[in-house]
Amino acid sequence: MKQVYGGVSATTAHVLKDLLAAEGVAVTLGGELTNLSEAGWGVDLYLVDDADFDRARAIIVDFEGRMAEDPDGDGDGAAPATWRCPGCGEMHAAVFQSCWHCGRDRD
Ligand SMILES: [Zn+2]
Repeated sequence: MKQVYGGVSATTAHVLKDLLAAEGVAVTLGGELTNLSEAGWGVDLYLVDDADFDRARAIIVDFEGRMAEDPDGDGDGAAPATWRCPGCGEMHAAVFQSCWHCGRDRD
């Protein structure tokens, strides 16, 4: 049960869960509120099968790329904030609150 993504809204988590499921990658959500209608922040995605990690990451990176092109979905393509992990140098879209690679929190 490896975490593949985290610190996202319940809405994003469910979109990703469906996206990954469509690619044959099963994930479970952790940390979400019991009432899914309340969009809480801080939902984590965990792989049912850790062997899917690389494939899941590729799907999520693609998803992030699309989020980055138009993060709020209004079609204006506003440039999002990105940040570089101070721990390992990995670049992240603004939706990330911690580094997927080394686990370090965003400053
Ligand atoms: Zn890192």
